[in-house]
Amino acid sequence: MPNKIEEILETAAAIAKGMSVTFREMMSPTVTENYPDEPPKFEERFRGVHVLQRDESGLEKCVACFLCAAACPAQCIYIEASENTDMVRISGGERFAQTYNIDYSRCIFCGYCVEACPTDAVTHGHGFEIASFNTSTLVYRKEQLLAPVPPGARPPEIFPETTSAH
Ligand code: SF4
Ligand code: SF4
Repeated sequence: MPNKIEEILETAAAIAKGMSVTFREMMSPTVTENYPDEPPKFEERFRGVHVLQRDESGLEKCVACFLCAAACPAQCIYIEASENTDMVRISGGERFAQTYNIDYSRCIFCGYCVEACPTDAVTHGHGFEIASFNTSTLVYRKEQLLAPVPPGARPPEIFPETTSAH
């Protein structure tokens, strides 16, 4: 009989413990987001559509070293490099990415490209609304990925007539 009573008490305690979690959650503020009526909130480290960053003077940070493309397990980054010249300077290094494409029909948002980049040129933004029935629209070009020129900086010439070096 004592065992029976102990069993009933343990069960009651377990139910009380479980219900306490339920009541606590009922009282806490709701976390439901009204997307798409309201913009969703992202954690800072959310991995969305990439952004090709510029430095404070507006130059592109990408120096076309190809390390991101080499690190990409999905092989979805395509780069063509060109040389900066005295007349036309696009990036702070010797070279810049004349072409920089990411194929989002293959990207798995693993972040390896971001980790591999020595100049912090490629980062993840918070863009995520890229679903499409036409996979050709999922190849994002440099023009779509480039960060805007910072206020007060002179915009560099973005697509000069230069000879591809790769
Ligand atoms: S996030 Fe991963 S899969 Fe996507 S481009 Fe970067 S390395 Fe490739
Ligand atoms: S984004 Fe970074 S890693 Fe990729 S080519 Fe440009 S500088 Fe190199």
